[in-house]
Amino acid sequence: MKVAVVGLGIAGLSICARLALAGHDVSGFDQFEPMHTHGSSHGDTRIMRLTPGEGEIYVELARRANEGWRTWEGLAGRPFIEWTTGLMAGPRGSPFVAACQRLSKTPAALLRGDAIHALTRGYIAMPYEWDVFRQEDAGVIAADAARAFLLKQAVRWGAKLQHNARIDAPIDGLVLKINDSARAFDAVIVAAGGWARRLLPEFAGRLAVKRRVVGWFETPNPRLAPVICADNDEGVYGMSAPRGLYKLGLHAIGGATDPDSVREPDADDAELLSAQARVLLPTHNPTPVRMARCLYTVTPDEHFLITPSSANARVLLFSACSGHGFKYAPMFGQIAEDWLNGKETAELTAFGITRRAPVNRLGGEKT
Ligand SMILES: Cc1cc2nc3c(=O)[nH]c(=O)nc-3n(C[C@H](O)[C@H](O)[C@H](O)COP(=O)(O)OP(=O)(O)OC[C@H]3O[C@@H](n4cnc5c(N)ncnc54)[C@H](O)[C@@H]3O)c2cc1C
Repeated sequence: MKVAVVGLGIAGLSICARLALAGHDVSGFDQFEPMHTHGSSHGDTRIMRLTPGEGEIYVELARRANEGWRTWEGLAGRPFIEWTTGLMAGPRGSPFVAACQRLSKTPAALLRGDAIHALTRGYIAMPYEWDVFRQEDAGVIAADAARAFLLKQAVRWGAKLQHNARIDAPIDGLVLKINDSARAFDAVIVAAGGWARRLLPEFAGRLAVKRRVVGWFETPNPRLAPVICADNDEGVYGMSAPRGLYKLGLHAIGGATDPDSVREPDADDAELLSAQARVLLPTHNPTPVRMARCLYTVTPDEHFLITPSSANARVLLFSACSGHGFKYAPMFGQIAEDWLNGKETAELTAFGITRRAPVNRLGGEKT
């Protein structure tokens, strides 16, 4: 089948690789150069969790994705994931922490926040009034390395990848307009991250594009440290990063943005991140050594939205962000292949539109 994949972030690359391996005639397009830093997939690291607190469907997906990561590591001849353990934390009674504990196959007791300082030999600190669930099965993904690997592997398996090729919006069928020419396909998969709402405007009310900023912090005594995911007001998360740094981000902070003109990190971003570093990272200098911006494409319920267009059932929206998609990357190609083959799977049902709440005209979910 002749398949077009619009967008070569981690989702589009995984899809191109898998579909090409399955024997499809795959063309992947991206508006920017390889390894660009304008979307959601760039950066040195992402958090891996095998027991994601986001829900049961993701636990199964993460376990299957983990097998895929092993396959990719075998092909690449290098590891992509470093297992560090993780600290899932939040104010007392946090539903996220409770979900992590419930979903874990080997549930352990919750810890008080102030136990973390001793547990990490002074490296990480948390407020006394936080609940903390320690997960063994958490770690750090070498994100840019994985993206670079897929750029090569997809081509090795036969995908044709075209960069600096912007697909005209909106997409209204199986003929795509690319740099003033038109090409017809049997199926089109739109993995365009923050730009998907323009390409498929029927989904615009369900896809909010948000600016996010991450910062890297240094310490005189660097070491591999646990991942942090907290559901405090800022949604702070963190992970060890290359060159002995620790990276912090704020899952819940950052306004709506135009993906084509995202404000660069500034002093206000630095202060928001520093406030978290002062609490969580007692041995680190609380001033970030550098910062970077990134895009979240957030659905009202923060679940992925993977669903065919109502105008053409051979056009698929593949929106796998809401800030937690990277870890499942090896499964994205599989999900796309299942859709292409007309399979009804648990993922396609869970991430489809049929069971989702309707959205109102302001783009918010109806309560
Ligand atoms: C700051 C931050 C931290 C995160 N942390 C984690 C984490 O710790 N763990 C985790 O699992 N996940 C995490 N995520 C989420 C994860 O990174 C995303 O789910 C994932 O990168 C989404 O990839 P994507 O391919 O859907 O989007 P993108 O990477 O944005 O790719 C979309 C691509 O489509 C292209 N495109 C758009 N429009 C067009 C067009 N018209 N023509 C051609 N090309 C087009 C764009 O140029 C872009 O390359 C994080 C995300 C961010 C931003």
